[in-house]
Amino acid sequence: MKFISTRGNDVVNCSAEAIVKGLANDGGLFVPEKFPNLQNKLADLLELDYAERASYILGQFLEEYDTDELFSACKKAYAKFENNDAAPVVKLDENLFILELFHGPTLAFKDIALTILPYLLRKGADITGVKEEILILVATSGDTGKAALEGFKDQDGIKIMVFYPSEGVSDMQKLQMRTQEGSNVNVVAVSGNFDDCQNAVKRIFSNVEFNNILKENNVILSSANSINFGRLCPQIAYYFSAYLDLVASNEITLGDKINFVVPTGNFGNILAGYYAKLMGLPIDKLVCASNSNNVLTEFFNSGEYNIEREFYKTISPSMDILISSNLERLIFELSNRDACLTKKRMDELKSTGKYTISTEELKFLSNNFVANYCDEEDCLETIDEYFEEYGYILDTHTSVAVNVLDSLGVNDKTKTVVLSTASPYKFSQSVLNALTGKNEKDAFKCAEKLYKLTAEPIPEQISLLKEKEQRFNEVVDKLETENAVLNFINKK
Ligand SMILES: *Cc1c(COP(=O)(O)O)cnc(C)c1O
Repeated sequence: MKFISTRGNDVVNCSAEAIVKGLANDGGLFVPEKFPNLQNKLADLLELDYAERASYILGQFLEEYDTDELFSACKKAYAKFENNDAAPVVKLDENLFILELFHGPTLAFKDIALTILPYLLRKGADITGVKEEILILVATSGDTGKAALEGFKDQDGIKIMVFYPSEGVSDMQKLQMRTQEGSNVNVVAVSGNFDDCQNAVKRIFSNVEFNNILKENNVILSSANSINFGRLCPQIAYYFSAYLDLVASNEITLGDKINFVVPTGNFGNILAGYYAKLMGLPIDKLVCASNSNNVLTEFFNSGEYNIEREFYKTISPSMDILISSNLERLIFELSNRDACLTKKRMDELKSTGKYTISTEELKFLSNNFVANYCDEEDCLETIDEYFEEYGYILDTHTSVAVNVLDSLGVNDKTKTVVLSTASPYKFSQSVLNALTGKNEKDAFKCAEKLYKLTAEPIPEQISLLKEKEQRFNEVVDKLETENAVLNFINKK
């Protein structure tokens, strides 16, 4: 299957090439030439387990990957999740279900893609004949960095380097990264905020001279960010899997439409849901939930995307984002795959900070999406409410989603699945604060108190962190990141 750029000036012959390249040459994002329709195949997938379903979905796009090998890779990746189930569905009441995507190695939904991406990339490099060593560069606001480090650690022929803002991640997230194990990993703090960090990494990717130096050292760069189709593709699978689980447990009949509610940042997760819909999964509405950084809420309701606004640091930090990169892929579909128009809009965003879609396009959007946002106070209150009512602990991101769902009342008759993206223990200070009103600073003490309060076991990934050696304490200036990269690749 060919992959084309959303901006019209790049096309590659297969998924392997799209995955290894990450970003298209024209600055656009790679999308599959067409979406296979699986509507008549759903019944065949009912009996399968998660890894089998995932490898089936992946196989639809990754035609040049060997089917058996892809299946073993999925088995191996998803065996890293609690109970061998990467995406269990929990019933809260008659029409409300939680899809728990946080039972992987780093306790966030990013694990679902980042446990399998190393295989997709390594194999993709072999398929396309790449001989150089691959260096993955990541700028992270917290969860992606750790999930990528765990996924890529000790992978042959690949190195990974993660940059995080010295002043922009939670204590637990920082500790998770600094204690990372593996012989091919490096973690460096960049002084400043996430924008400084992300811009520094973008600069490295686009620095031709620097990339030539890397090539002389037999190294090429690649990305583990959700702009990479290899990150997006595995996420389509859990929408199918959740739907099939509801059919298998007789909650719905095959063909019934359901809703999904998605706490959204970079628009990768919810876009995968839209792709599932394009592939024939019976989805009624996709609910786009934001925190106070509500640029997407405004877009879905008014048709104008405008990033000229205040940026808020919230208690759901993985959604603190103004430029949702993957929205470009939705805009592309929305315009009936008009790459020229998509490019024009992206250029406009870059030069003026905004763009507007047509009334027709907005109407089409409203038929597929609903959007709202939730502020800090409501987020905390919702955590408390749901614990009282259902004995269920939401993390701060999932709480945003649940609150938005309640605010919209789309839940009346249609069965609705809320995607839960992180373990509450990853944001223990805020969750404890929501349940008790107390402001305890130490993240481990909070975790222990949460356990006493809720009897929900503390995940080992959290409890063992305290004892681990901190291997990475380097802090660099945002202009020194290239040097940090050179030091890393030259280290024997
Ligand atoms: C990354 C992340 C999100 C946002 O997902 P996108 O794909 O960027 O929309 C939401 N919640 C958590 C916990 C995350 O780590």
